[in-house]
Amino acid sequence: MMNIEHDEKLIAEIAGHYRAILRLIGENPEREGLIKTPERAAKALVDITRGYRQNPLEIAQKAIFEYEGSKIVTVKDIEFYSMCEHHILPFFGKVTVGYIPKGKMIGLSKLARIVESFARRLQVQERLTAQVCSLLAEAMPTDGVIVICSAEHLCMKMRGVEKQDSSTTTLDYCGRFATEPALRDEFMRLIKC
Ligand SMILES: [Zn+2]
Repeated sequence: MMNIEHDEKLIAEIAGHYRAILRLIGENPEREGLIKTPERAAKALVDITRGYRQNPLEIAQKAIFEYEGSKIVTVKDIEFYSMCEHHILPFFGKVTVGYIPKGKMIGLSKLARIVESFARRLQVQERLTAQVCSLLAEAMPTDGVIVICSAEHLCMKMRGVEKQDSSTTTLDYCGRFATEPALRDEFMRLIKC
């Protein structure tokens, strides 16, 4: 976590750059509607990139408990908002996580916080998916982790190709999900119900 003084300095500096950008696109940053926009935009940017100042491994390890079960645990449709690193435009959607416990389980609310700490950075969807998968495999003993992510990208919807209805799905897995296709099928069936 940043201290408030550092935060204010950072926000003032980013706001200065936003003021310059407003001029460059042909706006007048001194007009009434825009006068506070650079500060607001700077605060928003610091907030939506707060994942850089979080440690997902630490978040995960705060909520790992003993657990005897060995069947797939699934948490479906964890909502996230991120920014694509190619255009600095939002992409957002849902992440579904599954894992096979091996003596341990993780607090379900922590999964959402882990997704968020990776999402609140400049990202690509493929890496976000892979990072959630490998973080879980690192944070606790499991027999396998699987992560599926589907998202809409404003850089595709608002510019260039303008494919309004497209969505992108990415998948990553490890452990028994990698070696046993039947387990991947079971996971896919589980997340449909
Ligand atoms: Zn993009």
